[in-house]
Order: sequence, then structure tokens, then C-alpha cells
Amino acid sequence: MDLELKLSPVQDWGIKNERPILIAGPCSVETPEQVMETAKGLVDTNLDVLRGGIWKPRTRPNSFEGVGSVGLKWLKDAGRAINVPVTTEVANSKHVYEALRAQIDILWIGARTTVNPFAVQEIADALRGVDIPVLVKNPVNPDLSLWMGAFERLNAAGLTKIGAIHRGFSTYGQSKYRNEPQWEIPIELKRRMPNIPIIVDPSHITGKREMIEPISQRALDMDFNGLMIETHVTPDKALSDARQQITPARMTEIKQNLKLRDASTTDHLFLDQLETLRQDIDGVDKEIIEVLARRMGIARKIGECKKANNITIVQKQRWNDIFEDRMNRGKDQGLTGEFMVELYNSIHKESIRQQSNIMND
Ligand code: PEP
Ligand code: MN
Repeated sequence: MDLELKLSPVQDWGIKNERPILIAGPCSVETPEQVMETAKGLVDTNLDVLRGGIWKPRTRPNSFEGVGSVGLKWLKDAGRAINVPVTTEVANSKHVYEALRAQIDILWIGARTTVNPFAVQEIADALRGVDIPVLVKNPVNPDLSLWMGAFERLNAAGLTKIGAIHRGFSTYGQSKYRNEPQWEIPIELKRRMPNIPIIVDPSHITGKREMIEPISQRALDMDFNGLMIETHVTPDKALSDARQQITPARMTEIKQNLKLRDASTTDHLFLDQLETLRQDIDGVDKEIIEVLARRMGIARKIGECKKANNITIVQKQRWNDIFEDRMNRGKDQGLTGEFMVELYNSIHKESIRQQSNIMND
């Protein structure tokens, strides 16, 4: 059972609360001039919050690890100059105290910190009694419970202005993304904790400036609440995440290009059409579940035969044949290879589970 969170709506966070909420600014604060010029360049985007990393969690040592506390004032001054609240990443209680002392308006917890309940608890404890907005990035691994646990820890410490940042999940091996979006996870978060606003971070999802606009549009089409986009006056010279940062001018252009669609409408013709199609989907889903149950029933019968004849459950050649055949059938029907692989892997897993139950009976 999910804990019931006591949250304050975004209208009470002290931000403009545009649709979409826009958080922009450099990956890292580098110099007073760099953050000030970036901020001024962003004015036409009508941004809600200026971001800037002060303490940078880097994968390997000996890369730029942020300017440290001295940069908090540079960030705050830049925010004041354009009259916009500022946000930075905190990873421990020392960061929290220093950020609060520098009057940083909003804090965020990074992906490498959300994975660690000790660190999240330390931050929550340091914030007890200070109801500042806190945004929590998803953990680097695709674990929704860990993400939800962070919101629960903060809320239990009395924080009510809590938001999520979806920045994708790390995978080992080739991918066109820096961090796979796995949209089903933030969508499930929205279902389980509907009052938590979700900001999408296309910069860390894609890792490439060319992909920022399409992923931002996709995030809006899925009705997420906002965007966090890394912006730098001279992106190619950035001391961190250079490939994914865009200029303030490009950010302004993207903001203008983004199309907002309505989440609901009162147009009756459209609503009738949608209702009919949804009923079709409900019917098809019912069939899918019945067919899957039938398939598992057959798998159990096979399990009984194998048990009677003392044969192992998994027979590699048979599985390879099925897999190849089903991939081809899927392709002929216009289904993507990625979907067919996931579908058949989970069907296979469930068949094995069903057969193991028979073996162990
Ligand atoms: C960042 O926002 O610059 C950052 C370090 O992000 P993440 O925690 O998502 O890797
Ligand atoms: Mn970054």
C-alpha cells in the first residue's frame, strides 16, 4: 500500500508555474559571467527556474567536480538579475546547509543520490522544518520503489513541495540514448502518486543536443508537467556535459516550437470517437489475457509431460526456433523488434515459472 503523501500544489511553490514548467541553465556553474550571461539569454524563454550544478557527481575522478560553495552566490545573483528562482543539486547535509544559507530557492536530488536511502534520509533530516521545494531525479537504475521511497522520506520529514525529474535510466551497452527513457516508469509514478508533478530532463535522457527538441515534444505529448534543459552560453566549451548543452538562443527557439496539446476536451464528436476506440481496446485486452491464459495452460500440460518423462524444462533449440518464428511473424504484422523481444521474453519467463511449479508439485 502506498503511503498517502501530504503535498502542496505547484501554485504554492513560488514559481510562475507555466505550462510546461521550464527549468533551464548550465549543467555546472563555472564562472559568475557564464551563469549570468546564460541567465540573461534565457529571459525570452519565460523560464520558471534557473538551474546550475555546484557540486558535480562525476562518473570518473579527475573530471571537473564543480566550483563548490563559492558558486552558490553566482547562481543566486544570476537568478536575481532576471527575477527567477534558482535550483541546485544537493547530495548530503553539508550541501543542504550551504545551499539554504545562500538562499537557493529549490533543491534537487541527483540520480546517483536517489539510489542511496541513507543519503536521501540525511538530506530529508537536514531539511526538517524548512518547507523548500525539492525535486527528486529518478535513481540511475529503473527501480520505481526506490524513487517513491525518496518522496516518502522527504514527506515524512515535513516537506510538502515535492516534484520528480525523469532523466532516464542507465543501461550497459549500445543505445541511442545516454539514459533510456523507459517512459512506462514515470507513467506508473504518475498513476501511483498523481499529485507529484513530473519534469522531464531531455538533456540527460538523450546526451545529444540534436535530440532535445523531439524528446521535449514527446514529454509534453505525454502530458508531463515540465522540462529541465541544460543551457550554456558556449556549450562546446562547457566543463561538463558539453555534447548535450544548448545555447539560450536555441532554448528560446525550442520553447517557441513546442506544441501544447490539451489533456481533455469537450468536443463531443471527438469524445464519442475516443470512447468507441477505448471500448475496442478494452475488448482486445480481454482477448489478449484469455489467449495468454490458454497458452500458459498448454505450457503447464507440457510441463506435466516433461515431468512424467524426466526431461528438463528449458530446451534451447525449441526456444530458439519459437523466437525466430515469432520475431518474423511480428515483423510481418508491423510490430517492432524491440516490442517482440520484450513480449516473448516475458511470455517465456512466465511459461518457465508455470512449468517449474508443476515440476516442484
Ligand atoms: C545534472 O543534472 O547535471 C546531473 C548530474 O544529473 P543526473 O543526476 O540526472 O545525472
Ligand atoms: Mn549535466
